[in-house]
Amino acid sequence: MCGIIGYNGYRNAQPVILDGLKRLEYRGYDSAGIGIINKKLQVHKQVGDISRLIDSIPSFTGTIGIGHTRWATHGKVTETNAHPQLNTSKTIAIVHNGIIDNFLELKNHLQQKGYVFQSQTDSEIIAHLIDEHYHKDFQDAILKTIRQLRGSYAIVAISQKDPDTIIAARNESPLVIGIGDNENLVASDIPALLKYTNRVIYLDDGEICILKKKSVTILDSAGTQKQKETHLVTWDVRDAEKAGYPHFMLKEIHEQPHALTQGLVGRISEINRTVSFHEKIERLLRKPIQKIHLIACGTSFYACYIGKYLFEQLTNIPVQIDLASEYRYFSPKQPDAFVIAVTQSGETLDTLGALRTAKKTGCQTLVITNVIGSTATRIANAYLLTQSGPEIGVAATKTFTSQILMLYLLALKIASNQQTISSDDLYHTLIELRELPREVRQILHQTEEIKTLAHNISNSTSLFYIGRGINYPLALEGALKIKEISYIHAEGFAAGELKHGPFALLSPETPVIAIATHDKIFDKMLANIGEIKAR
Ligand code: GLU
Repeated sequence: MCGIIGYNGYRNAQPVILDGLKRLEYRGYDSAGIGIINKKLQVHKQVGDISRLIDSIPSFTGTIGIGHTRWATHGKVTETNAHPQLNTSKTIAIVHNGIIDNFLELKNHLQQKGYVFQSQTDSEIIAHLIDEHYHKDFQDAILKTIRQLRGSYAIVAISQKDPDTIIAARNESPLVIGIGDNENLVASDIPALLKYTNRVIYLDDGEICILKKKSVTILDSAGTQKQKETHLVTWDVRDAEKAGYPHFMLKEIHEQPHALTQGLVGRISEINRTVSFHEKIERLLRKPIQKIHLIACGTSFYACYIGKYLFEQLTNIPVQIDLASEYRYFSPKQPDAFVIAVTQSGETLDTLGALRTAKKTGCQTLVITNVIGSTATRIANAYLLTQSGPEIGVAATKTFTSQILMLYLLALKIASNQQTISSDDLYHTLIELRELPREVRQILHQTEEIKTLAHNISNSTSLFYIGRGINYPLALEGALKIKEISYIHAEGFAAGELKHGPFALLSPETPVIAIATHDKIFDKMLANIGEIKAR
């Protein structure tokens, strides 16, 4: 699932779209393309980097157009398979994120009617279906088309026959509309819009959006007009830029102190000895809580794992953690569980699925997310924002620490509601939390030492992280990061488990990173480190 941008306004659309695609680059892609209408539809596509697209593109004029970065799911990485995909007469162009599950069936139907396919993508059927249904009315053609589609999609379409209109539709793939003055935009993610506007409307599943230069109309799948809330995004375009760092991930690592401060602001009061959230969350937390389910994917799952330790230490409530991709299909039927889902983007498909399952089971649900207005915030009974600012780097960094902070605050709140923490202990914890951003900054000051250490282990083929207690999930997260970013095989272990098998994999060439903090099992960690060194 990659990037989409559409522009309808008074500016020359080409640079707006190319800039939007560049801002969506962080999602990764294999090819890119753009389509612009100026009486006639003009299309240019290229395999590889956006810079190749920019270098090779003729200068198209026109104030309405769409762009796409593709991450191939159906069909090889070729220019023909890149988007936009067109109808046969090359008058309709669509870009699509996602997968159309029933594309083979629809393709057969279209082929029988004489439609000839150019690409191997699932997406091309959308252009032909619109063509099939397009008699006079573009909007009607799209409505009829999406009723036939099964699967996940964010679709943005333009047509030469209706050269003033962009139509967008979504199901299980994010799309956000940017409301400007005499210009409107649509994109798969906010950074692509921020240069032009901070007023946004989030499309929901099943909705379509008619985007004119001066108006935006949202319809449900039956074609009935809907009123939607406009949100103000508090990030600005600078937040979504690299600010002198060589890449976003490093920038975001260094933004942790700020992100943590933002997460604490207005939520803790040492003087009053309270943790407070907005009323919707407070109300949820006042209800009796028998058990807690923490649900997430990837890094957010490890944040939940840490959360489990925090909740269980501070409250008497049993906590179960589940991977969203498992919970979705194998959820325990426990309507009395309080479900907390964690997702940075608020759009993680499995987490959304798990949230819906939890709601159907009758659970109260809360989501911790970084993106206001995201789908998850609209499914859950309440949402808690991490306030970390945009995270462009694909590997979570600042949002991971912010998620843990949110889980910690929730645990403290529940503990204080249930009086399993004394007022004095809460007071001292809050004072320490206030120091957290400064302490993180101190660690970041050691960048040079960290670099040297990283350099020393960078040629390893395999690496272990070990930890105990709360540092065990941290070891798992460390290993995940090494795999994802360094392409080095890595494993995280509970330090006490090494002797039950993993020792066999240790050799003098295997770096072991032990997370040993001054807690009650520090001595045990030292013993584990001694054992490893002896081997
Ligand atoms: N399934 C489509 C394709 O393979 C869209 C992939 C995407 O989301 O980029 O072309």
